[in-house]
Amino acid sequence: MKKYILPLILSLACACGQKAVESFPEPVFEEHFQDSTLRLDYVFCGDARHQAIYLQGMCKTGPWAGRQKNLDRLPLKGNGQLVVKDPATGATLYAHSFSTLFQEWVGYPEARQVQKAFENCFQVPFPKDSVRIEVTLTDNRGRESARLSHIVDPADILIRQARDNEARCEILSQEGSLPESIDIVLLSEGYTSDQEDKFWADARRAQAALTAHEPFAGRSDAFTFRAVFLPSKDSGPSIPHSGDWHRTLADSHFDTFYSERYLTSSAQQKIFDALGIVPFEHIIVLVNTPVYGGGGIYNSLTIMGSDHPTFPQVLVHEFGHAFGGLGDEYFYDDMDQPVYPAGVEPWEPNLTTLTDFASKWQDMLPEGTSIPTPVDSLEQRDVRKIWNTLAPEKKALLNLTVGVFEGGGYQSKGVYRPVQECRMKINECEDFCPVCTRALERMIDFYTSK
Ligand SMILES: [Zn+2]
Repeated sequence: MKKYILPLILSLACACGQKAVESFPEPVFEEHFQDSTLRLDYVFCGDARHQAIYLQGMCKTGPWAGRQKNLDRLPLKGNGQLVVKDPATGATLYAHSFSTLFQEWVGYPEARQVQKAFENCFQVPFPKDSVRIEVTLTDNRGRESARLSHIVDPADILIRQARDNEARCEILSQEGSLPESIDIVLLSEGYTSDQEDKFWADARRAQAALTAHEPFAGRSDAFTFRAVFLPSKDSGPSIPHSGDWHRTLADSHFDTFYSERYLTSSAQQKIFDALGIVPFEHIIVLVNTPVYGGGGIYNSLTIMGSDHPTFPQVLVHEFGHAFGGLGDEYFYDDMDQPVYPAGVEPWEPNLTTLTDFASKWQDMLPEGTSIPTPVDSLEQRDVRKIWNTLAPEKKALLNLTVGVFEGGGYQSKGVYRPVQECRMKINECEDFCPVCTRALERMIDFYTSK
């Protein structure tokens, strides 16, 4: 298999903090929302040619863990948006962007043969009055591919009331109040009741891996980590290519889209049910397996095998997708359809097609940098195999020298990345590049601004 890091996720890029609607004053949280959470369950379905969105259910869960500022702004455009509006004025009261496993699947050959449905759950602050909710999906050219608009009446008696499901929830570290901190929850997957102690140890390893890594290390006061344990009947995820199906909390499995090492879960409702009334903004599903695998989808899910030796590195990479909306900086030549077509600027902050480079890292380019920037001769070799033999100065040069290097986003031509080597390109490279680092810092600022 050519992929050296599993290709996880398509995401998007507009100017950080761009306002979704310009003509209304910034909404005040207390005027429009209660201190609780509305969970919205949708089905995204269709095939390569046609996609649709259906509302499946609504639920009132725990206290609101998300932001109470920047409500009508989006940090990134994403592959989809969910916007809460005042039905009388059309003013945006809350906006959220995301990517989905469904939209990734739409790009696979299978989506030309069959129609499928995928669960997607979202959280918004619980409204005080009726609101209109608009959910939009966009394709890789930024064109709208599906839309659903519906009214939510907060007094609707069919909004299910979530109860404490008696999962064991521990706060691993807490910083600030719920609205002020970025709330991460780690969920057990494929741990039997006898393996609970292992889960708590794995959860702490995951927390340590993320908070030891810049820019998260320097901003650890911005993050709260919780972990939730619920047992699975069987240990470890399902492995379909071995005919090995397990009864687990989140139905995680390898062979996603028939790619042997691609570990995901499509059971979003089970995951959200397991979390119950626990407050959270970002989910990390920790899968009890020594096999390499995992993924990260922007504002959807991070999922990770717990025991592979590369666990800390891959977790940080996948969290870069899921939290920061970063794109993959690696590439190869075997894509039958480009993920990032020419003439369309990707929304991911660390990739460009040069269609709108000014919106990316043009301001970080050293004067006189040529575009495309010539690569070091190392590029002709498999740099992963010699990375550990390189002098620290050489590694820093490859990781920190910002340019416009051709190759990224799974394509060797027409897509450009900021540096030669980055955590978003190879597991061996210890650090995010300056462009990824800035994008992550901007995201932290967006969620924690007071
Ligand atoms: Zn990078």
